[in-house]
Amino acid sequence: MVLSLMLPLALAAAPARPPRGLPRPSPVPGGVALLEVGAGPAAPEVRYLGERVLVRRGPRGWVALVGIKLSAKPGTAHVEVDGRPLPFTIRAKRYPEQRITVPDPRKVTPTKEDEARIAREDALMKPVWKLWPEGATASLAFLQPTPGRLTASFGMRRIFNGELRSPHAGLDIAAPAGQAVKAPAAGEVVLTGDFFFSGNAVFIAHGEGVVSLLCHLSRIDVKQGDRVEAGQVVGRVGSTGRSTAPHLHWSLSLNDARVDPRIFLR
Ligand SMILES: [Zn+2]
Repeated sequence: MVLSLMLPLALAAAPARPPRGLPRPSPVPGGVALLEVGAGPAAPEVRYLGERVLVRRGPRGWVALVGIKLSAKPGTAHVEVDGRPLPFTIRAKRYPEQRITVPDPRKVTPTKEDEARIAREDALMKPVWKLWPEGATASLAFLQPTPGRLTASFGMRRIFNGELRSPHAGLDIAAPAGQAVKAPAAGEVVLTGDFFFSGNAVFIAHGEGVVSLLCHLSRIDVKQGDRVEAGQVVGRVGSTGRSTAPHLHWSLSLNDARVDPRIFLR
């Protein structure tokens, strides 16, 4: 009985082409899987690794946009659709390696005091990535937050001063210090601060678990609780935190998974 109920869902296939207004599917670590999750009148509740997943109406029914963490293992994974498992496949993707020399060794091997600060900051940031503000509908078409060359750095395995560190969970935009940084989409400023690795940072919750981080800023021009429109200035390009030259780092997250922001660039 249970099995027969599960079968129609288990057979639901990923759409071959993206429905209009939705991004192209990229079911790889750091990408977004698009899953058909039913055609009922109300959107089903979809969860992945316990986190609520963004669901949008497509031409043939509901489509879940599942952010896949860079740390995800390729193979079969599952979302829960109204509590029932729906399998999908995460394909392998090999990101290039990047070797970076950081002059300040503490940014690579933090001291004990630094570790305490990093832990405090992690505790502040962790819940922010999961925010799902009531009533806010996330845009799925984002503006580039500042002009400049997009580096192909998302997902790179990074070796700082010869030591392997976490992969690059964002996009870097080469830009001069002081250049305006704009909100890539409307949302609420949910956290600002000066962080050990990120430097001056602005977190924007766009709605439905979609969150942006804009960081290494020289200046922050908004405060926590501010509503921002797409294109509104939130700060200035800088080189604060673990950074070797002025640039903007933009992380974009869905269901607490940092994905390649280029997936959603207009
Ligand atoms: Zn970066």
